[in-house]
Amino acid sequence: MADTDDIVRYYDQTWFDYRLLWTRNHHMHFGFWDATTRNQAESLAAMTRATADGNVRPGERILDAGCGVGGPALWLARHYDAEVVGVSLSDAQIAKAREHADREGLADMVRFERADFTATAFADASFDVVWAQESVCHVPADAKKAFLAEAERVLRPGGRLVMEDWFRPATIERDADAALLQDWLDKWAISGLATVAEFRAWAEAAGFTDFCHRDLTVGARPSLRRLYALSLACYPVGVALRALRLRSATQHANMQGGRLQWHAHRRGLWSIRAVSARKPDAQTAGHHPEGQGTS
Ligand code: SAH
Repeated sequence: MADTDDIVRYYDQTWFDYRLLWTRNHHMHFGFWDATTRNQAESLAAMTRATADGNVRPGERILDAGCGVGGPALWLARHYDAEVVGVSLSDAQIAKAREHADREGLADMVRFERADFTATAFADASFDVVWAQESVCHVPADAKKAFLAEAERVLRPGGRLVMEDWFRPATIERDADAALLQDWLDKWAISGLATVAEFRAWAEAAGFTDFCHRDLTVGARPSLRRLYALSLACYPVGVALRALRLRSATQHANMQGGRLQWHAHRRGLWSIRAVSARKPDAQTAGHHPEGQGTS
């Protein structure tokens, strides 16, 4: 199971691979392809757009939980005129994200700091949206629940949780399939995926209502396939560099994960979804399990 040190090590050691093969516009997630998508950079922005569509409004204050090197936060600031605070576990990512905000002239709207999204120092009810793109998958089930409780705390009444994340199916029949899924996740410092039903139950237990999810897997498929092809192409060089100890075990595993995610996809072992949920308005917040927020 990946702990926070594993997550930081994974991202800090694999930055070179991300930079070389994947990240454009500072986005570090899978891409989304439709008839209008022309290249990798557009596909990455399109995934953020597909997640934000209908869930974010102009001028909102957003917490980006697991912000990477800032791509989605900068995109949200630019397209929604949003004020964004991004948090990541990695100091190196925060430094890069700040650099990117400066370079793009958005440093007055977007701020980054190192924090664990399961326990932040932000004030209660201080955000309109808590955004999490391919980040909550990293942490184990208990921490996923802690994230949901923290999101509920920092959202204003009527505020929204908006996520793009990976989910496992309700049942995985074959042991070999369960092992394949876990092997891939371990290589990417991901503790384990929730089912949609589990995640919904945890969100509702944390006080959220109006839980919605949309399957984006078909649109992401070209992106998954692209990563698979890149991983295959780089594999011989990767094996040689690993044998020479010029690449670490973490870096080598990252490349292997690029192949395994595709096999797991072909076996139907995971889906990519946009998820949203709402913190009840102050008038209805009396239904909150702990009775908080009643007016
Ligand atoms: N959302 C960004 C980055 C995705 S990579 C993007 O789409 O481009 C996953 C991110 O989640 C990394 O920045 C990692 O540091 C962060 N993360 C994982 N667990 C976290 C935690 N407990 N607290 C804060 N950030 C976390």
